[in-house]
Amino acid sequence: MLPELLPALSILWIDPRFILFVSPAILLALWAQARVRSAFRKYSEVPLGTGYSGAQVARKVLDSAGVEGVTIEPHSGWLSDHYDPRSRTLRLSESNHDGRSIAAAAIAAHEAGHAIQHAVRYLPLEMRTLYVPAAAVGSWFSFPLLFIGLIFGIPSLVKVGLILFGALVLFQIITLPVEFDASRRAKKMLDGSGIIVSEDEAQGVRSVLGAAALTYVAATLQAVLTLLYYLYVLGFLGRRS
Ligand SMILES: [Zn+2]
Repeated sequence: MLPELLPALSILWIDPRFILFVSPAILLALWAQARVRSAFRKYSEVPLGTGYSGAQVARKVLDSAGVEGVTIEPHSGWLSDHYDPRSRTLRLSESNHDGRSIAAAAIAAHEAGHAIQHAVRYLPLEMRTLYVPAAAVGSWFSFPLLFIGLIFGIPSLVKVGLILFGALVLFQIITLPVEFDASRRAKKMLDGSGIIVSEDEAQGVRSVLGAAALTYVAATLQAVLTLLYYLYVLGFLGRRS
Protein backbone atom coordinates (compact mmCIF):
# COMPACT_ATOMS: atom_id res chain seq x y z
CA MET A 1 0.00 0.00 0.00
CA LEU A 2 2.98 2.33 0.34
CA PRO A 3 3.83 4.21 -2.83
CA GLU A 4 7.35 3.67 -4.09
CA LEU A 5 9.72 6.55 -4.57
CA LEU A 6 9.75 7.51 -8.21
CA PRO A 7 12.53 5.79 -10.18
CA ALA A 8 13.57 9.18 -11.56
CA LEU A 9 14.49 10.20 -8.03
CA SER A 10 16.76 7.23 -7.44
CA ILE A 11 19.44 8.76 -9.66
CA LEU A 12 22.15 10.84 -8.11
CA TRP A 13 21.26 14.08 -9.83
CA ILE A 14 23.74 16.43 -8.28
CA ASP A 15 22.10 19.67 -9.25
CA PRO A 16 21.41 22.06 -6.37
CA ARG A 17 18.29 23.24 -8.21
CA PHE A 18 16.92 19.70 -8.17
CA ILE A 19 17.40 19.55 -4.42
CA LEU A 20 15.78 22.98 -4.12
CA PHE A 21 12.76 21.90 -6.16
CA VAL A 22 12.17 18.45 -4.76
CA SER A 23 13.48 18.47 -1.19
CA PRO A 24 10.20 19.73 0.37
CA ALA A 25 8.43 16.69 -1.07
CA ILE A 26 11.22 14.32 -0.02
CA LEU A 27 11.07 15.66 3.53
CA LEU A 28 7.28 15.27 3.53
CA ALA A 29 7.65 11.71 2.19
CA LEU A 30 10.16 10.76 4.89
CA TRP A 31 7.96 12.30 7.58
CA ALA A 32 4.86 10.53 6.21
CA GLN A 33 6.61 7.16 6.10
CA ALA A 34 7.84 7.64 9.66
CA ARG A 35 4.26 8.44 10.70
CA VAL A 36 2.94 5.32 8.97
CA ARG A 37 5.55 3.22 10.75
CA SER A 38 4.80 4.67 14.17
CA ALA A 39 0.99 4.59 13.76
CA PHE A 40 1.16 1.06 12.44
CA ARG A 41 3.50 -0.11 15.18
CA LYS A 42 1.35 1.50 17.87
CA TYR A 43 -2.03 0.24 16.66
CA SER A 44 -0.87 -3.24 15.67
CA GLU A 45 -0.30 -3.70 19.41
CA VAL A 46 -3.84 -2.60 20.30
CA PRO A 47 -6.29 -5.52 19.98
CA LEU A 48 -9.61 -4.99 18.24
CA GLY A 49 -12.45 -5.16 20.80
CA THR A 50 -14.56 -7.39 18.57
CA GLY A 51 -11.60 -9.77 18.10
CA TYR A 52 -11.83 -10.16 14.32
CA SER A 53 -8.74 -10.82 12.21
CA GLY A 54 -7.95 -8.51 9.29
CA ALA A 55 -9.20 -11.18 6.86
CA GLN A 56 -12.49 -11.43 8.77
CA VAL A 57 -12.84 -7.65 8.83
CA ALA A 58 -12.31 -7.47 5.05
CA ARG A 59 -14.92 -10.20 4.51
CA LYS A 60 -17.43 -8.50 6.80
CA VAL A 61 -16.94 -5.14 5.08
CA LEU A 62 -17.42 -6.77 1.65
CA ASP A 63 -20.49 -8.67 2.86
CA SER A 64 -22.15 -5.59 4.30
CA ALA A 65 -21.47 -3.75 1.04
CA GLY A 66 -23.04 -6.68 -0.85
CA VAL A 67 -19.83 -7.40 -2.78
CA GLU A 68 -19.40 -11.09 -3.64
CA GLY A 69 -16.77 -13.19 -5.39
CA VAL A 70 -13.67 -11.52 -3.96
CA THR A 71 -10.88 -13.86 -2.81
CA ILE A 72 -9.01 -12.81 0.34
CA GLU A 73 -5.55 -14.29 0.77
CA PRO A 74 -2.34 -13.69 2.77
CA HIS A 75 0.63 -12.10 0.99
CA SER A 76 4.28 -11.88 2.00
CA GLY A 77 6.02 -8.53 2.57
CA TRP A 78 5.60 -5.73 5.10
CA LEU A 79 2.56 -3.55 4.26
CA SER A 80 2.30 -5.23 0.87
CA ASP A 81 -1.51 -5.13 1.15
CA HIS A 82 -3.35 -4.48 -2.11
CA TYR A 83 -6.42 -5.31 -4.14
CA ASP A 84 -5.91 -6.84 -7.58
CA PRO A 85 -8.88 -5.92 -9.82
CA ARG A 86 -7.91 -8.38 -12.59
CA SER A 87 -8.29 -11.47 -10.42
CA ARG A 88 -10.62 -9.78 -7.88
CA THR A 89 -8.22 -10.79 -5.12
CA LEU A 90 -7.63 -8.90 -1.91
CA ARG A 91 -4.11 -9.68 -0.69
CA LEU A 92 -3.32 -8.80 2.90
CA SER A 93 0.20 -8.93 4.32
CA GLU A 94 0.44 -11.84 6.76
CA SER A 95 0.36 -9.67 9.89
CA ASN A 96 -2.77 -7.87 8.66
CA HIS A 97 -4.44 -11.04 7.35
CA ASP A 98 -4.13 -12.88 10.66
CA GLY A 99 -3.62 -9.96 13.08
CA ARG A 100 -6.51 -8.98 15.34
CA SER A 101 -5.41 -5.40 15.90
CA ILE A 102 -6.86 -2.00 15.07
CA ALA A 103 -4.10 -1.47 12.47
CA ALA A 104 -4.94 -4.78 10.75
CA ALA A 105 -8.65 -3.88 10.73
CA ALA A 106 -7.98 -0.39 9.31
CA ILE A 107 -5.79 -1.65 6.45
CA ALA A 108 -8.02 -4.65 5.68
CA ALA A 109 -11.05 -2.34 5.51
CA HIS A 110 -9.15 0.11 3.27
CA GLU A 111 -8.27 -2.66 0.82
CA ALA A 112 -11.87 -3.90 0.94
CA GLY A 113 -12.74 -0.29 0.06
CA HIS A 114 -10.83 -0.76 -3.22
CA ALA A 115 -12.76 -3.97 -3.92
CA ILE A 116 -16.03 -2.06 -3.33
CA GLN A 117 -14.84 0.74 -5.66
CA HIS A 118 -14.22 -1.93 -8.30
CA ALA A 119 -17.65 -3.51 -7.77
CA VAL A 120 -19.49 -0.17 -8.05
CA ARG A 121 -17.27 0.92 -10.98
CA TYR A 122 -15.96 3.98 -9.16
CA LEU A 123 -14.74 6.18 -12.02
CA PRO A 124 -11.31 7.26 -10.68
CA LEU A 125 -10.42 3.59 -10.01
CA GLU A 126 -11.47 2.62 -13.55
CA MET A 127 -9.36 5.46 -14.95
CA ARG A 128 -6.44 4.45 -12.80
CA THR A 129 -6.66 0.80 -13.95
CA LEU A 130 -6.80 1.88 -17.61
CA TYR A 131 -3.83 4.12 -16.99
CA VAL A 132 -1.50 1.48 -15.46
CA PRO A 133 0.23 0.53 -18.79
CA ALA A 134 0.93 4.20 -19.65
CA ALA A 135 2.34 4.78 -16.18
CA ALA A 136 4.55 1.69 -16.50
CA VAL A 137 5.93 2.89 -19.84
CA GLY A 138 6.47 6.31 -18.26
CA SER A 139 8.35 4.89 -15.33
CA TRP A 140 10.60 2.68 -17.50
CA PHE A 141 11.44 5.05 -20.35
CA SER A 142 11.01 8.65 -19.22
CA PHE A 143 14.34 9.04 -17.50
CA PRO A 144 16.49 7.07 -20.04
CA LEU A 145 14.96 9.12 -22.89
CA LEU A 146 15.49 12.42 -21.06
CA PHE A 147 19.04 11.41 -20.23
CA ILE A 148 20.01 10.27 -23.74
CA GLY A 149 18.20 13.23 -25.29
CA LEU A 150 20.08 15.71 -23.10
CA ILE A 151 23.50 14.06 -23.50
CA PHE A 152 23.29 13.85 -27.30
CA GLY A 153 21.27 17.04 -27.70
CA ILE A 154 18.18 15.47 -29.33
CA PRO A 155 15.23 17.78 -28.44
CA SER A 156 12.55 15.39 -29.76
CA LEU A 157 13.79 12.65 -27.43
CA VAL A 158 13.74 15.06 -24.50
CA LYS A 159 10.15 16.00 -25.36
CA VAL A 160 9.02 12.36 -25.51
CA GLY A 161 10.78 11.75 -22.18
CA LEU A 162 8.95 14.71 -20.66
CA ILE A 163 5.58 13.56 -22.00
CA LEU A 164 6.18 10.07 -20.56
CA PHE A 165 7.16 11.58 -17.23
CA GLY A 166 4.01 13.71 -17.39
CA ALA A 167 2.00 10.49 -17.84
CA LEU A 168 3.58 9.17 -14.66
CA VAL A 169 2.69 12.37 -12.79
CA LEU A 170 -0.92 12.15 -13.99
CA PHE A 171 -1.07 8.56 -12.71
CA GLN A 172 0.04 9.73 -9.26
CA ILE A 173 -2.64 12.43 -9.31
CA ILE A 174 -5.40 9.96 -10.27
CA THR A 175 -4.25 7.72 -7.41
CA LEU A 176 -5.16 10.36 -4.80
CA PRO A 177 -8.99 10.30 -5.07
CA VAL A 178 -8.85 6.48 -5.27
CA GLU A 179 -6.90 6.24 -2.01
CA PHE A 180 -8.89 8.89 -0.13
CA ASP A 181 -12.17 7.33 -1.19
CA ALA A 182 -11.06 3.81 -0.14
CA SER A 183 -10.22 5.12 3.36
CA ARG A 184 -13.51 7.04 3.55
CA ARG A 185 -15.42 3.85 2.67
CA ALA A 186 -13.32 1.87 5.18
CA LYS A 187 -14.14 4.21 8.08
CA LYS A 188 -17.83 4.26 7.18
CA MET A 189 -18.07 0.47 6.90
CA LEU A 190 -16.09 -0.15 10.11
CA ASP A 191 -18.49 2.13 12.01
CA GLY A 192 -21.64 0.97 10.25
CA SER A 193 -21.06 -2.77 10.54
CA GLY A 194 -20.19 -2.73 14.25
CA ILE A 195 -16.55 -3.81 13.78
CA ILE A 196 -15.31 -0.65 15.48
CA VAL A 197 -17.21 0.10 18.66
CA SER A 198 -15.31 2.73 20.65
CA GLU A 199 -14.07 6.25 19.93
CA ASP A 200 -10.52 5.10 20.81
CA GLU A 201 -10.70 2.46 18.09
CA ALA A 202 -12.08 4.96 15.58
CA GLN A 203 -9.20 7.30 16.48
CA GLY A 204 -6.69 4.47 15.85
CA VAL A 205 -8.22 3.75 12.44
CA ARG A 206 -8.06 7.46 11.52
CA SER A 207 -4.44 7.65 12.63
CA VAL A 208 -3.31 4.64 10.55
CA LEU A 209 -5.28 5.58 7.41
CA GLY A 210 -4.43 9.29 7.72
CA ALA A 211 -0.69 8.53 7.80
CA ALA A 212 -1.04 6.21 4.80
CA ALA A 213 -2.91 8.90 2.85
CA LEU A 214 -0.13 11.36 3.58
CA THR A 215 2.42 9.06 1.88
CA TYR A 216 0.36 9.27 -1.32
CA VAL A 217 0.19 13.05 -1.09
CA ALA A 218 3.97 13.17 -0.66
CA ALA A 219 4.56 10.83 -3.62
CA THR A 220 2.31 12.99 -5.81
CA LEU A 221 4.04 16.16 -4.70
CA GLN A 222 7.42 14.60 -5.51
CA ALA A 223 6.22 13.69 -8.99
CA VAL A 224 4.79 17.16 -9.67
CA LEU A 225 7.88 18.99 -8.36
CA THR A 226 10.23 16.72 -10.34
CA LEU A 227 8.25 17.51 -13.50
CA LEU A 228 8.40 21.24 -12.70
CA TYR A 229 12.14 20.92 -12.21
CA TYR A 230 12.59 19.29 -15.63
CA LEU A 231 10.40 21.93 -17.27
CA TYR A 232 12.33 24.72 -15.56
CA VAL A 233 15.80 23.39 -16.40
CA LEU A 234 14.79 22.68 -20.00
CA GLY A 235 13.47 26.22 -20.43
CA PHE A 236 9.78 25.38 -20.69
CA LEU A 237 8.95 27.67 -17.77
CA GLY A 238 9.98 30.93 -19.38
CA ARG A 239 13.70 30.40 -19.03
CA ARG A 240 16.45 29.27 -21.42
CA SER A 241 18.98 26.73 -20.24
ZN1 LIG B 1 -5.20 1.89 -1.17
